[in-house]
Amino acid sequence: MKTYQVDENGFYGAFGGAFIPEMLYPNVEELRNCYLEIMADPGFSEEFHHLLRDYVGRPTPLYFAGRLSERFGCRIYLKREDLCHTGAHKVNNTIGQILLARRLGKKRIIAETGAGQHGVATATVCALMGLPCVVYMGEVDIARQAPNVARMKLLGAEVRPARSGSRTLKDATNEAIRDWINNPEDTHYIIGSVVGPHPYPDMVARFQAVISEEIGAQLLEKEGRDAPDYLIACVGGGSNAAGAYYHYLDREEVGIIAVEAAGKGVHTGESAATSALGRVGIIHGSKTLLMQTADGQITEPYSISAGLDYPGIGPMHAHLYASGRGEFHSITDAEAMEAGRRLAALEGIIPAIETSHAFAVLEKRPFGPQDVVVINLSGRGDKDLQTYIDYFNL
Ligand SMILES: *Cc1c(COP(=O)(O)O)cnc(C)c1O
Repeated sequence: MKTYQVDENGFYGAFGGAFIPEMLYPNVEELRNCYLEIMADPGFSEEFHHLLRDYVGRPTPLYFAGRLSERFGCRIYLKREDLCHTGAHKVNNTIGQILLARRLGKKRIIAETGAGQHGVATATVCALMGLPCVVYMGEVDIARQAPNVARMKLLGAEVRPARSGSRTLKDATNEAIRDWINNPEDTHYIIGSVVGPHPYPDMVARFQAVISEEIGAQLLEKEGRDAPDYLIACVGGGSNAAGAYYHYLDREEVGIIAVEAAGKGVHTGESAATSALGRVGIIHGSKTLLMQTADGQITEPYSISAGLDYPGIGPMHAHLYASGRGEFHSITDAEAMEAGRRLAALEGIIPAIETSHAFAVLEKRPFGPQDVVVINLSGRGDKDLQTYIDYFNL
């Protein structure tokens, strides 16, 4: 059967795999050999779902957005990941990975972070489990994301600055990989999106798949059918989107819509529109689409939303793009900011600016009056308040 899921070698079509230095091989191989078995264990699944319910606050509501639906002439539902503990979907994955790390007997956790959202989600679960946590973060990002740095410290994590290169996310990732190579026995590396070498993209997608599992049950109750006509999600690395799409990937009657950040415009040189601009290359151990110069140097991405500011996309999404299964849109800073303001005014929900990009698609493309459209509301806007203030002169 044709499938958009990962194959046994860790590929989605031509994308994915594990292109890693030999020194990393034992760590990645250990994970690859046991992640499916651990996740299939009933005891593991019970503990995961118990924490998702009582700690994260799942299931998150599937909310029928009446005023937004009226405005855009279709039936719009919002999957409220913004109501998760810590304010976004990222914690679904960090809960899953910390439980997995414990099963593997790991005593120490490392992570990389750009905007700090994944760092906070990781520091949170390390506090929950009493495990020491080191978060690598570019020096530039540490300076511009002070509240999240403070959160991580309050949660007991150590934030280690990455001082090389552009001193942003990719440099932090390089530092984390170096740490993991040096501490293969006792350390687990929690990657924050559906990126990195196999099995990370598949593992993270499976942890986030709780989103589409809940959408199915909730839609059945509200609409009498378990699938929407369209699913819309923003894509940085692609984890909230992968979670929203997961159970619908192979149901081609469900339209999959992925939304990237065009920054100041796709062709301005200040963008993160990876599918539009990217070419095949290898980033963080995975063969995927990425923004690069003619001689293969990774281009520094730009977006007003720190969480979409990544030069690649996960291999699942590269395949959805290349195969035509997914419909991809690029949304500018300005379009996203207006969409965020509109959601706040029409529904009383202030979204994260990453999420605002997904809502901007409603302006770009028509839907029919009978269409059931689910938008994954990946996170809340509290963290972005200063950006909204500066942008709109509030
Ligand atoms: C981090 C983040 C994203 C982007 O990450 P994905 O892995 O693409 O989901 C999107 N929305 C919010 C609210 C985030 O915090």
